[in-house]
Amino acid sequence: MLLDISGEPVGHSRKHNGDKSKSMELPRHVTIGHDVLESVGDICTSLHLKGPAIIVDDINTKKIAGDHIEEILKSQKFMVTQITIDDADIKNLELVKAEISKTKAEIVLGVGGGKPIDMAKLGSYQLQKPFLSIPTAASHDGIVSSQASIKDNGERRSFKTHTPLAVIADTKIIADSPYRLLAAGAGDVLSNLTAVRDWILAKKLRNEYFSSSAATLSELSANMILESADMIKPRLGESAWIVAKALVSSGVAMSIAGSSRPASGSEHMFSHALDKIAEKPAYHGEQCAIGAIMMMYLHGGNWQMLRSALIKIKVPVTAKELKIDKDVIIEALTLAPSIREDRYTILSGGLTQEAAEEMALETGVVN
Ligand SMILES: [Zn+2]
Repeated sequence: MLLDISGEPVGHSRKHNGDKSKSMELPRHVTIGHDVLESVGDICTSLHLKGPAIIVDDINTKKIAGDHIEEILKSQKFMVTQITIDDADIKNLELVKAEISKTKAEIVLGVGGGKPIDMAKLGSYQLQKPFLSIPTAASHDGIVSSQASIKDNGERRSFKTHTPLAVIADTKIIADSPYRLLAAGAGDVLSNLTAVRDWILAKKLRNEYFSSSAATLSELSANMILESADMIKPRLGESAWIVAKALVSSGVAMSIAGSSRPASGSEHMFSHALDKIAEKPAYHGEQCAIGAIMMMYLHGGNWQMLRSALIKIKVPVTAKELKIDKDVIIEALTLAPSIREDRYTILSGGLTQEAAEEMALETGVVN
């Protein structure tokens, strides 16, 4: 089946070379903190959103936050409907859009990890309705970005949609989510370090559009995690706050750039390659973090420092910890350059199997 959606496919982003004008879409309202979920109604009111509202969640996030958001909004006289999805695919996207149309929703709240947020983001974008992102875990920067991914014919595809009008990140809920998700989120932010290096390379070698403010903010987000690596621990509200804040600023860096460039380079291509070929891929942020160790090695940067920060946060740094075979890691490395040929990175010249093996060995990813 061909995917017929109106988002801009990520692989076909506009060229900015020579552009004298630049527009950016940033979130208008960001709230991060303990119990901030309670203010969801007030935030809608402050944004002049009157409803009706639709809550997009999944079976888990419905219990964690969806039902409670419905209660809060109803107590403030909003008309509310909930739609509980079971995947991020065309079928669920159509269900979400049909429900938005049926209820004449003017507020679309995505409540969850990746899937409900992606479906709410994409559905609201296509029907041009305001979208609010309410993450229940901080596992990747999709909670703030304008990118949405959807399964099409068994394959994941990324689309550029719109930036959330508001982000409400309740650190009490995020701290209660499984620690592995938070650690993966920290890994996703740390992978900005190699994404920015790839971007600088593309600017130097391909004269690609480059925003130093977006690159600086992206690195700053990663540095927040590097500097706080000792403080990122399970069941600590402060840890949830650090990671959520870094993910938000990483998302803003992408909004400034108008693309995922500041936070997605060769390490993300490696992760996307793993998603394609691994029998059971690990979390996005975990795969990107391991990719970042190896890409930092290729860039000649301090990959050891990155690796030790990941170890402190308990993000996997070996194929064994990822539960992915050595051969699959090597194959993903050689496949990575073909994942997004329009995006110039350190891998753009290609990578031989021998070089891939040596890099994975040298960095301790495989043994
Ligand atoms: Zn990512």
